[in-house]
Amino acid sequence: MLSVTDLTGYMYCSRKLYFNKVLGIREKASVVSIKGTIKHAVFEDAGREDKNTLLSFRNTDSLESLEMNYRVVYYKILMFHIQRMKKELEAQGLKTLAVYQELWPFFLKEAQDKSRYFFALAKEKNLYGETLWLALPKAVPELKIISQKLELIGIIDRVEIDGSFVPIEIKTGSAPKEGVWKENMIQLGAYMLLLSEHYGKEITEGYIEYRAVNERRKVFMNPFLKDEIFELLRKVRQTLNSKELPEKTKDLRKCDSCGIREICYSR
Ligand code: SF4
Repeated sequence: MLSVTDLTGYMYCSRKLYFNKVLGIREKASVVSIKGTIKHAVFEDAGREDKNTLLSFRNTDSLESLEMNYRVVYYKILMFHIQRMKKELEAQGLKTLAVYQELWPFFLKEAQDKSRYFFALAKEKNLYGETLWLALPKAVPELKIISQKLELIGIIDRVEIDGSFVPIEIKTGSAPKEGVWKENMIQLGAYMLLLSEHYGKEITEGYIEYRAVNERRKVFMNPFLKDEIFELLRKVRQTLNSKELPEKTKDLRKCDSCGIREICYSR
């Protein structure tokens, strides 16, 4: 059974995927990936806290008090995840305080943006507390789907349920000037295929949420994207079943920051 991230791993460097999946040689987490993991986890957990924050929101509350509630939520969750990753951070020579100072402005802005958004929505609809919460589209976080037919497994960051099932993938790294990165499109497309099979209903769109620019960008399923995903599945299986180590990536910049470069270049 392949996972959707095997497809994007293959696109990044098929040789690295082979080292990882076939030879069991894993890359040590880099500073960038540890910070990415923390950011991603904070977004996920803060999203789960929306319900509690909004249930206690009354029509007499000010924007400032709502923002303060969100600040507390983000602060607690960020500190929790920094502590959780303390060992990994220290192994990279990073102090937890420095990581907090670097990441906090990012989540402070999130707290401000979110509180402004919900405050404006509440005023516009004149809904507060439970009625506001019930009026929002519902979403399932971290939805795991296994397809025996595709022999594929995926964990979707969030699936919004609003008449249809809309997969949302959160990205904390940089965003392209427009549209979405190719790997992101493949990942989301694969989630649409998984959801379509799971719910017996054609799922034709989803979103990549680029948190760095605070934008949601839509991806549509189409026959070309579907074919591309099936072709990629075939190639990944072929590579992982092969006895031969794939060639090095042609983009040698990737090797500069690769954690298994020494092993890779010695073969
Ligand atoms: S060093 Fe380069 S070619 Fe080798 S696994 Fe890493 S990214 Fe791929």
